[in-house]
Amino acid sequence: MVSNPLLDNPGLPAFSQIRPEHVEPAIDARLAACRAEIERLTREVPVPTWEGFVEPLEEMDDTLSRTWSPVGHLNAVLNSDALRAAYNACLPKLSDYGTEVGQNEDLFRAYQAVAAQEHLDATQRKLLDNALRDFHLSGVDLPADKKARYKAISQELSQLTSKYSENLLDATNAWSKLITDPAELAGLPESALALARQNAEQRGHTGDPASWVLTLDMPSYLPVMTYADNRDLRFEVYQAYGTRASDQGPHAGQWDNGEIMEQILALRHELAQLLGFANYAERSLATKMAKSPDAVLAFLQDLARRSVAQARKDLQEVRDFAREQHGLGDLEPWDLAYYSEKLRVYRYQISQEELRPYFPVSRVLEGLFQVIERLFRVRITQVATFDTYHPDVRFYEIRDGVTGGLRGQFYLDPFARANKRGGAWMDVCTNRLHTARCDQIPAAYLVCNFTPPVGDKPSLLTHTEVITLFHEFGHGLHHMLTRVDYPAVAGINGVAWDAVELPSQFMENWCWERESLDLFAAHWETGEPIPEDLYGRMIEARNFQSAMQMVRQLEFALFDFRVHLEYDPAQGGRIYQILEEVRDQVAVVRPPAFHRFAHGFSHVFSGGYAAGYYSYKWAEVLSADAFSLFEERGVFDPDTGRAFREKILEKGGSRDAMELYVDFRGREPTTDALLRHSGIAA
Ligand code: ZN
Repeated sequence: MVSNPLLDNPGLPAFSQIRPEHVEPAIDARLAACRAEIERLTREVPVPTWEGFVEPLEEMDDTLSRTWSPVGHLNAVLNSDALRAAYNACLPKLSDYGTEVGQNEDLFRAYQAVAAQEHLDATQRKLLDNALRDFHLSGVDLPADKKARYKAISQELSQLTSKYSENLLDATNAWSKLITDPAELAGLPESALALARQNAEQRGHTGDPASWVLTLDMPSYLPVMTYADNRDLRFEVYQAYGTRASDQGPHAGQWDNGEIMEQILALRHELAQLLGFANYAERSLATKMAKSPDAVLAFLQDLARRSVAQARKDLQEVRDFAREQHGLGDLEPWDLAYYSEKLRVYRYQISQEELRPYFPVSRVLEGLFQVIERLFRVRITQVATFDTYHPDVRFYEIRDGVTGGLRGQFYLDPFARANKRGGAWMDVCTNRLHTARCDQIPAAYLVCNFTPPVGDKPSLLTHTEVITLFHEFGHGLHHMLTRVDYPAVAGINGVAWDAVELPSQFMENWCWERESLDLFAAHWETGEPIPEDLYGRMIEARNFQSAMQMVRQLEFALFDFRVHLEYDPAQGGRIYQILEEVRDQVAVVRPPAFHRFAHGFSHVFSGGYAAGYYSYKWAEVLSADAFSLFEERGVFDPDTGRAFREKILEKGGSRDAMELYVDFRGREPTTDALLRHSGIAA
């Protein structure tokens, strides 16, 4: 057989050798091998045990995960037609395999038999509990016809959610605007102009006359909405962005996600009912910390009750400011970021751009690593030579600060570019796996979409981007510092989804502390730290419009939850009807009728957040409350840092999330710290 880099992969992915044509044969071969192994184990092992049955299955899952992980990663960061086709060709195969395993009664009985044995430790018990739960959630108890239906639905859902994501990417890439009159770009900061210039050059618009290209990627979109004096331009970009992949806007009807969302909701509902749940929201909660839909709704509504009045005040302040200072009669959604920024500068004499020179990406990374090293007693070093897929990518190792032993590795892919999915995320490259036969350390992908370096100038981050970086590294640490030996409950695996944002949101706190900022915030030209008065203004401005941001998140969370909870086959998704109802309840800003928020809400329609977007707020309660212990004891208190590492990060999904939290904090969480940090009156 011709060698295939996706199969001959004992260590890290051989990215430079992976071609789209390797993908399907590799997945076919892996799936065949996995099926054969399951067949062998269920037939040949008379008395299933942990070592003789569960461990070999964990090892087998790992081979599949290592083959698929680089494919999924490349599809996200180096998308091409050929790779996309290969990726999509595999989705139904993987979905079918997943369903087949989940519905395999022999496997199910074997896990039950192991679970009935006595010598198991808590981690092993948790893995087995999760596995048995997941068998039920895959329909192992269903009659044959319903099993088949479950399988068909799962397959269709995996294709539909992938299509949703493709439509959004294509629609985002399809729009750009060439500008040749610099007056049109008045107000844009130098960094945004330079990026627009670079975009133009990359598209072949060189020389005379000077030209700029705007796109819908975040580093281009946000500055326009925040700084462009030209109201028509803001409107045009707002409309293009807010109607991506929909029936409205400049590409109306092309890549329209409308029907896809309807199908996704219908299928999720049917799937939930097949399994005996009333709706998909209940199905979603079967693997989460929150106990019931009522608990989720009550949680969100409680936060809304505490925030809405202040959010209205936030909005009224911008409106008044725009009218009094700038003579604007009607504040529209495409004016909001622009006048908010003006108000922020007016009130606190601080803008995002003013901080940017203090955050050159390399310094920020060094500082982030120092924060991590001090808190968690590890050492992070860059490795110069490694196999990569793009020159922007960097590679690092995490070692134990005391023993020097290798704990984890990660790829960092920092900058925005074409054919790379927007946003920031951490994903699993390899899992920790430690058995008699394997000793594998975890590796992660950390992906951001920062403004790339322009010309000789380094990439300078906004403070918001610094926070994003810390956030994703929180996920990365959860994955890489795990001490759990079995992938199914190591790192972020097996962690209740509404607790999974705990480490990430927790890490954001160090972006606000003088003590940690001084480790890395230094002017890229002069090396000066952030001056005291600038820092003071930054802290004062921290909770600027925080109530308005809170209700915006609550709007998304309530919409996501209700659209799954209230789905009625007779009436369809009622997507925008429910969104409007939620807005009546909690929103202070109403987008215009053409706006199509749901068509681009990929967390929920193509990511893992279906009936789970509330998890961000849920986990934020945990992360704020966890950080309050550091506030009490010192932000670099070594004992508290060690406790967080040992009791939360290293434990991964090996225990119930609340159990771990209480072990760390000494009590259950309260919302006090979150409200206090957000400047929302209790
Ligand atoms: Zn996150």
